[in-house]
Amino acid sequence: MWILIGFGLGILVAYAAFRLHALNVSGAVSAAVIGGLIFGFGGLPWATLLLIFFISSSLLSRVSGQKKKVLYEKFAKDSRRDYGQVLANGGLGAVLALVYWFFPENMDLWIAFAGCMAAVNADTWGTELGVLSPVAPRLITNGRVVPNGTSGGITLAGYLASAAGAVLIGFVSAVFMPAYPAGVILFVVVLGGLAGATVDSLLGATVQGIYYCPKCKKETESAPEHHCGTETEHLRGWRWLNNDLVNLVCSIVGASIAVGGWLLFG
Ligand SMILES: [Zn+2]
Repeated sequence: MWILIGFGLGILVAYAAFRLHALNVSGAVSAAVIGGLIFGFGGLPWATLLLIFFISSSLLSRVSGQKKKVLYEKFAKDSRRDYGQVLANGGLGAVLALVYWFFPENMDLWIAFAGCMAAVNADTWGTELGVLSPVAPRLITNGRVVPNGTSGGITLAGYLASAAGAVLIGFVSAVFMPAYPAGVILFVVVLGGLAGATVDSLLGATVQGIYYCPKCKKETESAPEHHCGTETEHLRGWRWLNNDLVNLVCSIVGASIAVGGWLLFG
């Protein structure tokens, strides 16, 4: 019965997100499936973490999107997420929820899911808020100052935003498991979240496929075309390693580090 309610809830949330322009059609369909799996098989605690990530990241991209419009004239960023972004951020969580259905007493799975959500939440908060930093970012690999929005560029503000995003997920994941030490849960989940976001930046600075928009004269992760509609040129990195794959790796790192920490200290 709860599985049916879960899928109903997934469809409802995806439809609302579509109407609010947070998702396009492919994003809404995949969000309904991913959301249905996580709500239905994970239950209320899993649904809560997913909703915190989904609602906060949708709101943040809207806030920073408005600010960006002021920053760059004629900036027409489409902040609606598509199926690739949905699968990258929620795919691992959906698989974990399915496994959890068969092993409902397994605390490791909850920690893995929390670490996964902390990583994607940290990454999104850091990206959306870090871009508003008044200080120019530095490349995570060599510390060189790079233009705002450069992949692999980090700022203190962005890192603090990432930490806040991870702490929120860590805090809520501890609240749902009162039988376990809250401090340890918070610690390992935040650790996983920050590790995931850091790996995301490291990949962005090194091997991720990076492109250049000749119209906006800007580096971008978008291919084959920029948000402005102009075809982008390959600049560096592996073409196959796009932003969605990097986000997926980020979520896997978050889950693994959190579980590793939990096995060590939990
Ligand atoms: Zn452009």
